[in-house]
Amino acid sequence: MTRALTDVVEDVVDRSTLETYAACPYQGWAIERGRVETASIHTEIGTEAHRILSDAIAARFDDGASADELQAMMHAAARQSRPDIQPEVIRALGGSPRMIAGLLTHRHGQERHQHDIMRFDGGDGDRAGQLAWEPRLDRPLVTGAVDLLLSTESQAELDLLDWKTGRTWFSAGVVANSFQFCLYSVLIFASYPACEVVNVRILMTRFSSMSPAVRFTRSRLSDYTARVLSALDIYVAHRDSALPPAWPHEEKCKICPACTACPWVRGEVRDFADDPAAGLQQLVSLEAATKKLRSTARGWWRTHGEIRSADLDIRFGVQGPAPKRRAPVPSLYHVQAEDPDTDTDTDQGNHTTCDTP
Ligand code: SF4
Repeated sequence: MTRALTDVVEDVVDRSTLETYAACPYQGWAIERGRVETASIHTEIGTEAHRILSDAIAARFDDGASADELQAMMHAAARQSRPDIQPEVIRALGGSPRMIAGLLTHRHGQERHQHDIMRFDGGDGDRAGQLAWEPRLDRPLVTGAVDLLLSTESQAELDLLDWKTGRTWFSAGVVANSFQFCLYSVLIFASYPACEVVNVRILMTRFSSMSPAVRFTRSRLSDYTARVLSALDIYVAHRDSALPPAWPHEEKCKICPACTACPWVRGEVRDFADDPAAGLQQLVSLEAATKKLRSTARGWWRTHGEIRSADLDIRFGVQGPAPKRRAPVPSLYHVQAEDPDTDTDTDQGNHTTCDTP
């Protein structure tokens, strides 16, 4: 079921919130309620790079800008981006302006019509990247914003392009398993009934590299829908909780912006003898929180210098005493086979081969 985004709908959840709740309800809840800081310099660089690419798509769609014009426009916009992040924005875009200019203007060596651009982030009206899907009346409307949706020769196939400006590498397997593209496929199939296949490709802008195309097919729509509905169930079950559960997992915790507020970090230290699995879960979230605190302390030190705690007589900085060298601890070791062409230094009474003839 689809509903226009212009209708008044109060119960709406976006892709990123849904995905975060599904990974760990506490993390999703803390971010949604603004209890943790999610802004970072990396987010700002990514946002700026995405804005530059969106402006270029708009220039192609509205004015029919040529490949050369688009490329020049993107390079100029990157040079003129915010002075504090300009070098990183240029690095984050890498060689993607040339690739995107080619993508927007040509297909299989032929000139591409500008109206092949069906939707894009920053587009207006029915060209907007934002898509919506209403699974049931008692469930929130689900939204997601695609970077670029292009038509192909056939109404039955659409090309979905997504820009990633970070340092993560996206293989075909990563794309195929991604919740993001599973959800985008559900949104696209709901909005374009004639579409049978969505070809998803990721442009890793920093590496000027495109992932292989991964096909999301309508024949598997029930699998994609079930996955999104299961995430929606988690969201609906926990969004109004006073304290939603936290689900530690090494990969999730190490990038979690809510790790220092996590119940596993703030609760009592678990006794491994009582519950080894729970102890391990707490260890994972504690390590994530420690890493984040250490990096926050380094950031503070870079700006303000050494951090001192008079009460505890401890400091954080680079002036600490050099670590003591440990005395060698005797232990078993393997004896290396002697090379007959090399003399052995028998004076030392051991089996180390000597390089000097
Ligand atoms: S640290 Fe891990 S368990 Fe805790 S909120 Fe974050 S993702 Fe969830």
